[in-house]
Amino acid sequence: MSEQTTCHKTYQEKLQPTPAQERELERVLWRCRTLYNTALEQRIFLWRRRGASTSRYQQEAELKALRAELPEYEDIHSHVLQDVLTRLEKTYQAFFRRVQHGEKPGFPRFHGKDRYHSFTSKAYGNGARLENGALVLSKIGRLAVRWSRPVGGTIKTVTISKAADGWYVSFSCAEVPVEPLPLTGKETGIDMGLKVFLITADGQPVENPRHYRKAERALKQAHLRVSRRKKGSHRRRKAMQVLAKQHQHVRRQRRDFHHTTALALVRAYDTIYVEAIQPANVSRRPAPKQDEHCTSVHNGASQKAGLNTSIHDAGWRHFLWILACKAACAGKRVDAVPPASTSQDCSGCGERIYKSLSVRTHVCTTCGLMLDRDLNAARNILWRGQRLRGLPALAGGLNREPVGL
Ligand SMILES: [Zn+2]
Repeated sequence: MSEQTTCHKTYQEKLQPTPAQERELERVLWRCRTLYNTALEQRIFLWRRRGASTSRYQQEAELKALRAELPEYEDIHSHVLQDVLTRLEKTYQAFFRRVQHGEKPGFPRFHGKDRYHSFTSKAYGNGARLENGALVLSKIGRLAVRWSRPVGGTIKTVTISKAADGWYVSFSCAEVPVEPLPLTGKETGIDMGLKVFLITADGQPVENPRHYRKAERALKQAHLRVSRRKKGSHRRRKAMQVLAKQHQHVRRQRRDFHHTTALALVRAYDTIYVEAIQPANVSRRPAPKQDEHCTSVHNGASQKAGLNTSIHDAGWRHFLWILACKAACAGKRVDAVPPASTSQDCSGCGERIYKSLSVRTHVCTTCGLMLDRDLNAARNILWRGQRLRGLPALAGGLNREPVGL
């Protein structure tokens, strides 16, 4: 059991700004976005012309000059502006990291009006603080907060974000006391399923929620409606608002599902083993590549499957992150194990049984074990995790209990 007594936690609450405050928030967002785009432009310019790269520190020095020259930036807290440059730096680093890994990522892009939603005060108390239950932002004033629960620990950063249904504030907190959940003495491994959301090593599947499909259909319709309406028209703008709300709805449903699923796992098990996600290649299941020797007409179906898989993987990442946070806050642990060949190895005897992705059942020719492919992987993840921790794992060869399909 981990000795950790505190954890990190983010609390999000709805803001209730007055119309005048809302205009101020919009203005800050606008300035931040402009700064982001300007800084990006500068980096691209220097990169193309001189092959030089600009560091965030150089840009921060220029920020000072900018603030002196442009009065509209003067009344925005310097920490908020510095955070804009930090974001750009992070995007840039991620971009170059992916280039180094031989991928072909999209170049960091300029942010349009609908693509920049938040700004951050990086040090609580300096530009943003709480006072008698209200959020006080420097140069904007006191904003009313609709509290749903008390904030715990020490607030580190404050982020203001604009969503389809209004403004929100997120407090990122450290040193939040752990609220331990009762120990169950049970451990498991989990694997991302292809048909189900996940499966545990003891064979318990967590289905993908049904509302996903329904919400996705609604999303598609909202998309269509936008594309059918004339650009710049009032009707199109309205349709875009509906679309944004629809997006938000889907995001929230997914988030809720992830939270509920993670909580159930953390309640049931003391340790949960997962496959480590490689940063270079997010997807363990590579996107289908078109065969060079294949001369038949390509209908795009496999490409589409690849796309769906990558969306699925992004969801999985988000889920694992929530799971790790929940476990830390409940005094439980999540351990990542090396992912190599967890779906190929037999969880019964350890023999490697090669199978392509389309083979959904693991059939061992050595020990005769036959079970669902993902379940086999989940068991391997559990054994591997326990072995790595030096626990008396039910290693390959010892796990011979009869397993039904
Ligand atoms: Zn076997």
